[in-house]
Amino acid sequence: MIENLELRKKMGRKYMVVECPSCNQYFAATLSVKPSCPRCGKKLKAQDLQKDVVGSWKDAAKIVQKRQAEKAGGTYNPEGMCTKTERFEEIVQSLGKERRVPLPAILEKAEKLGLSGEWVLKRLEYLEREGMLIRRGGDVEFT
Ligand SMILES: [Zn+2]
Repeated sequence: MIENLELRKKMGRKYMVVECPSCNQYFAATLSVKPSCPRCGKKLKAQDLQKDVVGSWKDAAKIVQKRQAEKAGGTYNPEGMCTKTERFEEIVQSLGKERRVPLPAILEKAEKLGLSGEWVLKRLEYLEREGMLIRRGGDVEFT
């Protein structure tokens, strides 16, 4: 019994990544027999689940991100490109209603969401090539 405890201490805490059979979302949790899905609240039985077991929360979070990205059809990017794009989409959606927006306003909003100015400018260039927006002086006009 004591040996077991010592062993567990040495091995550290374990985490698992599970696809919830109820809402089909991936989530990370501390390794346990009866986890519950943080997204839909469904109580699950670990033995029935396909799971990845890892030694750190960080690794578990990375796997969740990767799986979610794969599911969404996007390619996994360790820098979280998928989420960055999603965040950027949000900005475009919220500002797009105004048709014409000064570039600094976009950059300011992007920075608040944790996106770097350099990345946003590249993204805007891409959207311009795709014909989704037009740059007019210091303004961006959404088409
Ligand atoms: Zn769920």
